[in-house]
Amino acid sequence: MTGSAEGVERLQALEARYAMPTYARAPVEFVRGQGCVLWDSEGREYLDLFSGLAVHNAGHCHPDVVAAVQDQVARIAGASNLYYSGPAMELHERLAELGLGGRSFLCNSGAEANECAIKLVRKHAHERGIERPEIVVLDHGFHGRTLAALAATTKLAREDLFGPLPEGFVGVPRDDPEALSAAVGERTAAVIVEPVQGEAGVHPIADAVLTAARAACDRSGALLVFDEIQTGMGRTGTFWAYQGTDVRPDVLTAGKALGGGLPVGACAIAPQLGEGLTLGEHGSTFAGGAIGSRAALAAIGVLSDPDLLADVGERGSLLAERCLEIPGVVDVRGRGLMLGLALGEGLDAREVARGALDAGLVVNAPNPATVRLLPPLVISEQEVVQGVDRLAEVVGGAVGARG
Ligand SMILES: *Cc1c(COP(=O)(O)O)cnc(C)c1O
Repeated sequence: MTGSAEGVERLQALEARYAMPTYARAPVEFVRGQGCVLWDSEGREYLDLFSGLAVHNAGHCHPDVVAAVQDQVARIAGASNLYYSGPAMELHERLAELGLGGRSFLCNSGAEANECAIKLVRKHAHERGIERPEIVVLDHGFHGRTLAALAATTKLAREDLFGPLPEGFVGVPRDDPEALSAAVGERTAAVIVEPVQGEAGVHPIADAVLTAARAACDRSGALLVFDEIQTGMGRTGTFWAYQGTDVRPDVLTAGKALGGGLPVGACAIAPQLGEGLTLGEHGSTFAGGAIGSRAALAAIGVLSDPDLLADVGERGSLLAERCLEIPGVVDVRGRGLMLGLALGEGLDAREVARGALDAGLVVNAPNPATVRLLPPLVISEQEVVQGVDRLAEVVGGAVGARG
C-alpha cells in the first residue's frame, strides 16, 4: 500500500464529491520534498524522477528558491502591473540575456505563454497584410488547455465538446520536413514546434524538421515559435533546448520550471520583433508578480550554472544507458534529463508507474507504451543508479508476470 490509507481515502472521498474529475491521481499525498526526495503523509520516502512534471528542475525546496520566496512574501506580494516591480523587470532582463535577446511578456502558466505567442504572431501577420493568418503545428505536439493552445494541440482539440474552436491551425506530421515546408505559405503567421515533444511520450523532433521549419519561415516571412515549456530551464542539457540545435526561433515560450515551483510563464521574442505586443493588447493581473518573479530569478540562478548544465548531459547519458540495459525496455528517447523509455510488447507503462510508486520511485506514464523520466536536474550519480536499480526491479517483475 502507498500513502496514508486513511488520509488518502479521505482525500479521495472529497475529490469524488467536490472536484471535477479531470485527473487520474495515484493514491498518494506528498507532503514534503527535498532535492530529489519526496515524503508522503505516512512518512514513506520516495526517489523523485518526475519533478512534478518538469517543474522542480532545481530540486524540491531548493534553499535559494525558499529564501527568495520567504523574503518576498513577507515584504509585498505585488501591487499590480500599473506600478514597477524590481523582480519582474530583472526577470525580463535575465530572460533576454539567457535566450533570444529581446523583450518578453510574463504570465502565469504555459498555456498563457502560448496564448501570448499566438496573439503576437497573428498580429505580426496582420501587419504583413495577411487577413486570415494560419499557424502550422506538428501533430502530437502539446501546447496547453486554453482554447487557442488547445486548437494548436491537434490530437486533443475536441470540436465536438468545445467547439467552435479558434480557427487557423494546420497540423502536419512531426517527422516530415517536406510536408512541413509545403504547409508554410503566404498565409502562414508562424510554425510552432515543441523541440522535444513531452506529453506525446518524449519524441525529439529531428534536426531536419527543425531546419526545414526555419527555412520555410525565412522564405515566407512567418515566425518560428519554440514551445520550450517542458524542454527549457536546463532540462535537455542546455538552458533552452534550441541552444542544443542548429536552429534559433523568433519566439520562445516558457513555463513549468521557470517559476521554481510557482506559477510563472513567459513569452520571449528576438530583438528584430521589436516591441511585440503593446499597450492595451495584452495583460494579466497576477503576471510578473513579485513572489513568482523572485522564485523564477532564484531558479534561473541555480539552473543557468554551466557546471549544472554539463551534469545534466552526463547524468542523462548515464540514465539513458542504464535504462537501455533493463530487460523490457526496448528503446530510450530524449535529450539530457528528459527521457522516454519505450517498453516491449505486453508491458503497460501505467502498471510500471504504479509498481514503481509502491517501490518508492516516482516515474510517469504519458501513454501505455512509454515510461517518462524527468528527474530534478540536481540529481546525483548515486541517485541515478539507485533509481535505475529500483526501476529495473519493477520492470523485471512486470516482465516476469508477462511470462
Ligand atoms: C505543460 C505544457 C504546456 C502547458 O503548460 P500549463 O502550465 O499546463 O498551461 C504547454 N506546452 C508544453 C510543451 C508543455 O509541456
